[in-house]
Amino acid sequence: MLIASPTGANICSRCIDQAQQIVKDEAPAKSTAFLAYSSLDEIPKPGEIKAHLDTYVIGQEQAKRAVSVAVYNHYKRIMIQNDVADVELEKSNILLMGPTGTGKTLMARALAKYLKVPFAIADATVLTEAGYVGEDVENILVRLLQSADYDVEATEAGIIYVDEIDKISRKTANASITRDVSGEGVQQALLKILEGTVAQVPPKGGRKHPEQPLVSINTQNILFIVGGAFEGIDEIIARRRKKTMLGFSKFDEEETRLKGAELLRVVEPEDLLKYGLIPEIIGRLPVVAALEELTREALHSILLEPRNALVKQYQKMFEIEGVKLIFKEDALDAIIDAAQKYGTGARALRRSIEKVMLDIMFEVPDLENLKKCTITKEVVTGKKDPILEY
Ligand code: ADP
Repeated sequence: MLIASPTGANICSRCIDQAQQIVKDEAPAKSTAFLAYSSLDEIPKPGEIKAHLDTYVIGQEQAKRAVSVAVYNHYKRIMIQNDVADVELEKSNILLMGPTGTGKTLMARALAKYLKVPFAIADATVLTEAGYVGEDVENILVRLLQSADYDVEATEAGIIYVDEIDKISRKTANASITRDVSGEGVQQALLKILEGTVAQVPPKGGRKHPEQPLVSINTQNILFIVGGAFEGIDEIIARRRKKTMLGFSKFDEEETRLKGAELLRVVEPEDLLKYGLIPEIIGRLPVVAALEELTREALHSILLEPRNALVKQYQKMFEIEGVKLIFKEDALDAIIDAAQKYGTGARALRRSIEKVMLDIMFEVPDLENLKKCTITKEVVTGKKDPILEY
């Protein structure tokens, strides 16, 4: 077929094909995300990664350090992979343990923003074994593939955060003859992609429809960060420690009384096993980091300091309307008080501040010439209206 242009030039279909091939061959290789770092010097150092995390995540020093090192090593590992390495570096997947609302997901998200590798977040509770109602484990990979813009090579060097891993623990107490499709079965399925396999995934997600061509993804270099609250594991750890400490001096007895994150930090594989994780999964999670319950001071900082701090966000929204928004110190205290009642960590801060601000935000756009709006403790407790200055 001959295609004519208005200027009189013609091109035949064969030439078009050829030209297309040339363009394909000559075009610079699609920039795979992880090749964005071409040398070791360019990889962000653990200190730099942590400094970035610091701008989002308050406290949680140990966890931030562990994650930073693991991510740095992850890049390094990928980089030397193409060399003939005499030492094989194994990937160090990370287990984040800590109460709900203490920054596990936040840390993963903050990393995602900073890093130049594709990143996906999945919730373990919605996963089921292949063939059952729910989401296939492979769908996590689909999400990663999508975040990599369908670039398979980049996907294979990505990072995946799996939340609520503790909710798929094996339910041994309830031994039933039916299959444990939401617990051990999922762990087995997860294990496969965790340890490295070539998974066939339907690029559009969903179930494997026969008409959908599958994409092969090698998960060997995908870094997994898994998180969970592991409620009740403190008792398992404490019990084990007590047993091994029995008959020792008073000093050791003190030792057994560790609490919170300190206790989580001395977690041993056998505790996780007792909790219901299968040994193979535990073996694939060599880095364990514990997050602390947030103190009042931490909650206070969370309201004010991070780049996306709630107070900053509201102030920005008011600023757009030309209004200066001020939170009195006692108002912040009252917001923290209210949040602490929910027991969901920093997550409750948003709820608690949202409740206070709703009415005000409803009215402010109608108040012309409003210059300043001050929130006091009485506003938070619902006793008074905010102080408005024109
Ligand atoms: P989880 O530990 O249950 O995954 P998230 O990370 O989702 O909790 O935290 C919920 C919200 O609480 C976050 O979006 C963030 O705004 C806030 N938050 C929690 N922990 C912190 C923290 N350490 N520093 C700053 N904000 C935090």
